[in-house]
Amino acid sequence: MRTIGLIGGMSFESSAVYYRLVNESARRRLGGLSSADVLMHSVNFAEIVALQKAGRWNQAAARLADIAIKLQVGGAECVLICTNTMHLIADEVASRVSIPLIHIVDETAAELKRAGCRRPLLLATRYTMEHGFYIERMARQGVSAMVPDAEDRTVVHDVIFNELCAGTVLDSSREKLMAIIERGKAAGADSVILGCTEICLILDPQALPLPGFDSTAIHAEAAVDFAFGTTQQSECAA
Ligand code: GLU
Repeated sequence: MRTIGLIGGMSFESSAVYYRLVNESARRRLGGLSSADVLMHSVNFAEIVALQKAGRWNQAAARLADIAIKLQVGGAECVLICTNTMHLIADEVASRVSIPLIHIVDETAAELKRAGCRRPLLLATRYTMEHGFYIERMARQGVSAMVPDAEDRTVVHDVIFNELCAGTVLDSSREKLMAIIERGKAAGADSVILGCTEICLILDPQALPLPGFDSTAIHAEAAVDFAFGTTQQSECAA
């Protein structure tokens, strides 16, 4: 089994889910008391949020790249950035290491295509929904993601940062997210991407009015596929 490197802490609420999922998947595959071989470096999220708010993406890239190098030196054989948002600088991180970076957008796009979905509604942070890196990378793979309108984007962004990343899960916010999904469905979405690694804490992808794709679960499973050498290659991986 290969060693999985995780860059976590963004937020630790979702990193805990990653850690559980990769280990559960390894135990399912090997049985008994088996678990995954994992190295995780978890950051102080407040420092990363400050860089995001200031638009200092180069500095954030340098920070995460340094961590990726440390994971590689420590024996990691792949690296995952355990947040969709910070994939904004994934190419810079990938360019600093020789181990593969398992990209959350590519893995999610591949899963959508396997299910025959091409027009997903993307629920994510404002950075992910508005900076283009996510939607453009999906488009290169033939998936045409759409986003909620400006008002609804604010709701999703605020639920992520003010509640989910702070460990708060509110029924009232779940209802708001469900209403946003209904509006997306009415506007032509054929599926929903839980495109923030904390959204799985509030929405069950199996209990939505459209097929749901949980980026956290997809990304974690891709890491275990890599660890076991059973990676399913995406047809159009960049
Ligand atoms: N974990 C979230 C994501 O998947 C948001 C936290 C962050 O800004 O990195 O985008």
